Amino acid sequence: HAKKTGKGSYQHFSDSLSRQNEEFSVIEQKMHEAVENERFELYFQPIVDSSTHRIVSLEALIRWYDDEFGFIPPDKFIPLAEKNGLIMVIGDWVIREACRQLKIWQDRGILDIQLAINVSAIQLNNPKFAQQLYQCITESGIIPGTLYIELTETTIINGEQEIFVTLEWLRSKGIRIALDDFGTGYSSLSYLRNLPIDILKIDQSFIRDINNKNNNVILSAVIVMAHALGFKVVAEGVEERGHLAFLVKEGCDLLQGYMFSRPQAADDITRILLKETKEEASKTG
Ligand code: C2E
Ligand code: MG
Ligand code: MG
Ligand code: MG
Repeated sequence: HAKKTGKGSYQHFSDSLSRQNEEFSVIEQKMHEAVENERFELYFQPIVDSSTHRIVSLEALIRWYDDEFGFIPPDKFIPLAEKNGLIMVIGDWVIREACRQLKIWQDRGILDIQLAINVSAIQLNNPKFAQQLYQCITESGIIPGTLYIELTETTIINGEQEIFVTLEWLRSKGIRIALDDFGTGYSSLSYLRNLPIDILKIDQSFIRDINNKNNNVILSAVIVMAHALGFKVVAEGVEERGHLAFLVKEGCDLLQGYMFSRPQAADDITRILLKETKEEASKTG
């Protein structure tokens, strides 16, 4: 091991590759500890209806704050956890925690909010995954159909044929499937033809590029195509009024992004949800 010289700096390795490996192994060690001590937290980001701007669902996003390193973004540690296998334990925790939190909200009268969790390819390839997810949902007592999963395009494309059977089974149990980061995974049109999904989430890179003519032609076409195939469409990474205007004009169903809300801790989201629920109740009498 390298000698520690300060907050997260390891001077022993001058070569950048070994330094990177060293950083990885330190994070890996920390990750084991974090798993054992349940040092993760779920944050929740609202997904709003594009015409009413009301919150329709939330995406659960894992957060990890380390005492020494501070915030370690999921983009950094999830890929590592997928390599070292810890994703199985972390993924199980995410499922349990999401069900637990959703049950709390439903018990407080917030009944019309859906909650999405991200599921990695490694989890989905476990033959017991679907059964365990369904069991967790059933045992937690949440309203059937209120928890759904997000899978990336590459997860589905690179998956075995059995994945399609799994996805159909999940859907038959009321667990909807969203295709995450759509447009980044080189999926062919023939794939889309048979895709057992319910929601298509257009990747942020396309939203960031609104204003670019070719980009917008593709965006419009994707929305039309997704609707024709029976999918709801979510735009990820909506940050500006210009994005909003274009997406509303093109009939995108749902919007997610900093313009509406950043991912927030459960308590903060609870306050927002209770306020919306009350407002809705007073409207309908
Ligand atoms: P994702 O599933 O595509 O999640 C959306 C990411 O975009 C989140 O980053 C979110 O904070 C960010 N985002 C949302 N709106 C905006 C915006 O307007 N602008 C910008 N610049 N970013 C926005 P986050 O939370 O850092 O998560 C990154 C990725 O890590 C996720 O991408 C997902 O692939 C993975 N991840 C997060 N939580 C989990 C988890 O519980 N399990 C698994 N397997 N993966 C997870
Ligand atoms: Mg996602
Ligand atoms: Mg995404
Ligand atoms: Mg992503």
